Amino acid sequence: MTVTATTTGTVVDAVRRWARERPGHTAFTFVDYEVDPDGVPVSITWAELDARACGVAAELRRRCAPGDRALLLLPQGLDYVVAFVGCLYADVLAVPLFPITGDGHRERLDGVLRDCTPKVALTAAPAALDLDVVVVGSVPPSAEPPVRRLGGPAYLQYTSGSTRTPAGVVVTDRNFRVNVRQALTAYGLADAEPAPVSWLPLFHDMGLVLGVGVALTTGAEAVLMDPQAFLYRPSRWLRAMHGRRDVISAGPNFAYDLCVRRVSPVERSGLDLGGVVALINGSEPVRAATLAAFQEAFGPCGLRPDAQRPSYGLAEATVLVTAATGPTTTGFDRAALAGGRAVPAVDPERASVLVGCGGAVDQHLAIVDPVTGEPVGEGDRVGEIWVCGENVSPGYWSGGEGFGARLPGSPLGPWLRTGDLGVLHDGHLYVVGRIKDLIVIDGRNHYPQDVEAVVEEADDVVRRGHVAAFAVPSLDGEAMVVVAERSSKVPRQAVDQARVRARVRAAVARHHDVRVRDVLVVEPGSVPRTSSGKLSRAACRALYLGGQLPAS
Ligand code: ATP
Ligand code: MG
Repeated sequence: MTVTATTTGTVVDAVRRWARERPGHTAFTFVDYEVDPDGVPVSITWAELDARACGVAAELRRRCAPGDRALLLLPQGLDYVVAFVGCLYADVLAVPLFPITGDGHRERLDGVLRDCTPKVALTAAPAALDLDVVVVGSVPPSAEPPVRRLGGPAYLQYTSGSTRTPAGVVVTDRNFRVNVRQALTAYGLADAEPAPVSWLPLFHDMGLVLGVGVALTTGAEAVLMDPQAFLYRPSRWLRAMHGRRDVISAGPNFAYDLCVRRVSPVERSGLDLGGVVALINGSEPVRAATLAAFQEAFGPCGLRPDAQRPSYGLAEATVLVTAATGPTTTGFDRAALAGGRAVPAVDPERASVLVGCGGAVDQHLAIVDPVTGEPVGEGDRVGEIWVCGENVSPGYWSGGEGFGARLPGSPLGPWLRTGDLGVLHDGHLYVVGRIKDLIVIDGRNHYPQDVEAVVEEADDVVRRGHVAAFAVPSLDGEAMVVVAERSSKVPRQAVDQARVRARVRAAVARHHDVRVRDVLVVEPGSVPRTSSGKLSRAACRALYLGGQLPAS
């Protein structure tokens, strides 16, 4: 059967429609690896989802007025989806989060609590909170119909917090539906019945839109699993795609590396990935070496070379902004990049290899001088990426800059200033880094991920993907510092800080022509990451400057 996403009506209308038209069809399957390492699939039909969401909505309406906020403090699973849809049914703003476990990302929760002043929390078990608590699993289904809503704000998406305290982005019903549609069009699934597969956290934009949004708007069945289940055994992710048609899935770059390293030949044998249409690689810099290694590893499983889809996006634009139709890489001249120009390198030794993230999907992009606010025009100049489209949020819950910008000479607008630097080259957006993370020394720009890639190759002690390069104040401006985690393959006693420092300095000097002030090897897990696993250079810098990073 072919279904097309509803382009009119709200998400609620869509879910109600699937409950009417295909009540007995599976809406979501959660493969539970906690009860059994082989995985136990648990499913919910559209009729069940609708009735349970009606039940949750009835509970919410007793406690909340329309527009109040409800925290989703739930683990990954079907109840998460029930709670999210229940909020939509009640016209209450869902705030997708994760259970309070006492440790870990408590700061994120506290920040969110202060920011959005929720009325109620939806949880898996009774919890002592200064809020009304609804235990989702014990709410009976109901036939009470949803509140009629006009499709305004639907939920608050907190950003990852890579560069700051997470900010709550207001995502409207329309933003959500439009971005799902843009994604399906970009990935060639607009006229198919897509098969979403996801282990991404549902509190993260990419997990929510692709794991839940695609199913809700198209009526297709989504297969979900817990992020921990994937990290523990990455083959589980690929197994969930095995033999299925029109599969769409997503992950940050490290997920693909993990599959290459940790999916054994036995697990690969018999794996059929021929029906995979889109493996979205985004939310962190995409690496050319990863794309190549993944294709080499899983090409024999039938993976089409164009299935890997480097993409760029951010919560302020719901999630997706650009998508490539397959892997394309360009080696840009490092020295030119440092001066803000993207010129293909003649000498591979002097190249910084970047991956093309494709063009804008049914929205507009501009590359703008972040200081003057003028478009950089045609050509090779690096500038701030600006976005204009129906998927762009109306703003942060608590206000804040970045939204509502005007672009001189453009009839379009308002524009979102993303805070990311990029360049348009041969029809592709190349993301070169974040403005906030940029290391400026003697008027030259150094992009931290580029420096970090060089550091990873400099010494075996360095753990891949766990290096942070940042700037610290110095007498004459800024100086560069590198913090690198020790690889677990190298014993702690074998770490020679002086040797690593010398090697890193030499490598960075050779490739970037800049001196590294300090290099510190720290224990695995010491370089801070956000709740969704992204590297946080700003937090690392704060720890370093506070003397809170003990050497390995
Ligand atoms: P915060 O805004 O709180 O500091 P965050 O920007 O990491 O956190 P998200 O909205 O989840 O929060 O992530 C979007 C950001 O991720 C983008 O602005 C960009 O910096 C980065 N990003 C996304 N896709 C890519 C990509 N393909 N290549 C490089 N960076 C990317
Ligand atoms: Mg951001």
